[in-house]
Amino acid sequence: MRKMIIFLAAAASLGTHATWAAPGDTHICKWKDNKVAAFSVGGDDSLRSQTTFAIPLMTQRGIYGTWWVNTGRGHDELGFDFIDDQSYWVAAVKAGHDLASHTLHHTGARDAADADWEIGENARRIWAIQPGTKILLFDRGGGTVWDVSEDVIQQALAEYHCLESRGARAVDHQTWLINHTAAEFRSYVDAAIKDGGYHTLIFHGIGPNAEWGGQKDGDAFVALLDYLYEKKDLVWSDTFTKVCKYVEERDKSNLAAKEASPTRIRIGLTSALDTSEGMFDNPITLRTEVPPEWKTCTVTQGDVSTVYPVEAGVVQYSAVPNAGDISIVPGGATKPLPVAANALAPLPAAPPGPPVLPTKVIDGFDYKSDAQLNSAWWDFSCGNKTTISLRPAAGSEGKQNMKYIHAAGDKGFSGRLRRNTSLDLSPYGHLSMWIKPSNTKDPITFQFMEAIQSEFWEASFLPQTTEGQTIILPLTKEYFHHPSWFAGAEADGVIDLSNIKLMSIYVSGNETGAVVFANIRAIKAMPASGYIPVAATASTPALTETGRCTAKK
Ligand SMILES: [Zn+2]
Repeated sequence: MRKMIIFLAAAASLGTHATWAAPGDTHICKWKDNKVAAFSVGGDDSLRSQTTFAIPLMTQRGIYGTWWVNTGRGHDELGFDFIDDQSYWVAAVKAGHDLASHTLHHTGARDAADADWEIGENARRIWAIQPGTKILLFDRGGGTVWDVSEDVIQQALAEYHCLESRGARAVDHQTWLINHTAAEFRSYVDAAIKDGGYHTLIFHGIGPNAEWGGQKDGDAFVALLDYLYEKKDLVWSDTFTKVCKYVEERDKSNLAAKEASPTRIRIGLTSALDTSEGMFDNPITLRTEVPPEWKTCTVTQGDVSTVYPVEAGVVQYSAVPNAGDISIVPGGATKPLPVAANALAPLPAAPPGPPVLPTKVIDGFDYKSDAQLNSAWWDFSCGNKTTISLRPAAGSEGKQNMKYIHAAGDKGFSGRLRRNTSLDLSPYGHLSMWIKPSNTKDPITFQFMEAIQSEFWEASFLPQTTEGQTIILPLTKEYFHHPSWFAGAEADGVIDLSNIKLMSIYVSGNETGAVVFANIRAIKAMPASGYIPVAATASTPALTETGRCTAKK
């Protein structure tokens, strides 16, 4: 007897089909199709290198990812490309990828209404593209600041079915600013096979045109995809969303044996999860012991019947929790397996690159309302009060302009700031803007901050006249310099115009006044009649890399 117990224990620990298994015994597989491990590849920020490089290569190999997108971003800006390339995101979803939420603008939120809009509107725009995926994985965005309570955020997330996570618990291999080799990527897949777990990679830019550095080695990325393809019988590669649904359903469903006769097995598969359409509705893989004489089985759930082969007395099949009892009867002809294609499908077409125009509009003040203008141009709590409004452009450049009124105060300056502009001004050498100040003694400062290194640059000048005038600011170190408060441990002292994240305008002084700004744009060449104003000294407030005033000590 003792020997017998040891034998049974060994059989159980080896995972072989124990001799006492009875027809009807059922378990849910750890991973879909009883694979050994799971793996997900995806990325953040709806970047152009994802639509032009990574997604087509993945689609070609039947590997689908989850993309945390900002649907309110990406008109003529660097990287973030949702608006301009929406048709390619729609195509990616049609192919099998899915979208997750990274907020509407990647800017955090200033108040509860803003938080609801950033989370809710992004969800609505994503659902319009993928109505079948109601659950949205959610990430609030690196470097964003939320000036609301955690309760407000959590309430909005719950309302829009957002799960604030990257999905199921995983071994996540870091990618930010790292250029992995092919060997490293393969080792992650091997690690997943070895530990039988779930491994993930969340990228930003991918390939030779990777935004912001990081995974520049596109060949290594292709090697990762090829290796996942090679190991596809062992590793389940799928979207973060689908793996998340699978794990939740696997861990939170109940099996009930309802019948195990010589002619039929009936099993209940239920869950307290919300299994309505788009929620936890992903099929999971079950394995059921059947009588030894059954060679094939017809498995029926609801009105769907599928024939599966029986191997070693076990039938393996897909089912959905709360979709009705599962009935298994012997017999039925299995469909021949599709013949695996030898060659990869051709790459889907990539979106065309953005044209380099001779002039790039930075702000033409083409807003629909003063409210929109004020959401775009933040005020500074640490400066004198300002009021900004739109006016028809009588006499100025463009269709509309911005009237900027600064109240008297004691802070020494007033200003406004635009966040997350993601402007690529590298093809351009000069800034041009039309201004009409109410006096010529208050210096005006234009400031910008580079992404990644958060290096600030500014140029201050005195207006020459109270008449309207177009001024030109050369984007060079002869004209721009670091603000006096700038410490910038990571700064390299080089003006990098390829990704401008913040820009601000300031008016120095404590007296009331007004300046009209119009048609702020970048231009390639200095016009013959261009006027470069005389540089002036002015001080600006110390800012954080998200555009907040640094608290005074
Ligand atoms: Zn992000």
